[in-house]
Amino acid sequence: MERIWAPWRMKYILSNKAEGCIFCQKVAEDDDEENLILYRGESCFLILNTFPYNCGHLMVVPDRHIGEVEKLNESESLELMRLTQLSVKTLRHILKPEGFNIGMNLGRVSGAGVEGHLHIHVVPRWNGDTNFMPLLADTKVLSESLRETYKKLAQGFKAEM
Ligand SMILES: [Zn+2]
Repeated sequence: MERIWAPWRMKYILSNKAEGCIFCQKVAEDDDEENLILYRGESCFLILNTFPYNCGHLMVVPDRHIGEVEKLNESESLELMRLTQLSVKTLRHILKPEGFNIGMNLGRVSGAGVEGHLHIHVVPRWNGDTNFMPLLADTKVLSESLRETYKKLAQGFKAEM
């Protein structure tokens, strides 16, 4: 995978991580718009990445705090894949990317940002996006664009249902 230059991620890497699990915290709250939760399924949910590698970068996350992929039960496994498919379909529809990077980082050494609570990254890709993203390096611009992306995608997910 060609690396996308996303300088705002330094802020994330350098920031002291809050105690507790960010996914467990957000899924327990009921302000999905504020928390950028796009969709809730039976046992998994979709959430936009606050420090994205690209526009529309979202994550598919089981509700349950679980770090090992081999310990997912059958219905969680199914729904993780079902929501990954739904994400690709919706992102394709709304943002018209030309490709995707989809994957999981398990363990700190692999680059997992949230340890102990596994998640699948879905990153839309466009030809030339490695040149485009530095234009969004300003974190204020980024957070505005996140809110806009959230609105567009949340409507998209509703429409796909
Ligand atoms: Zn958790």
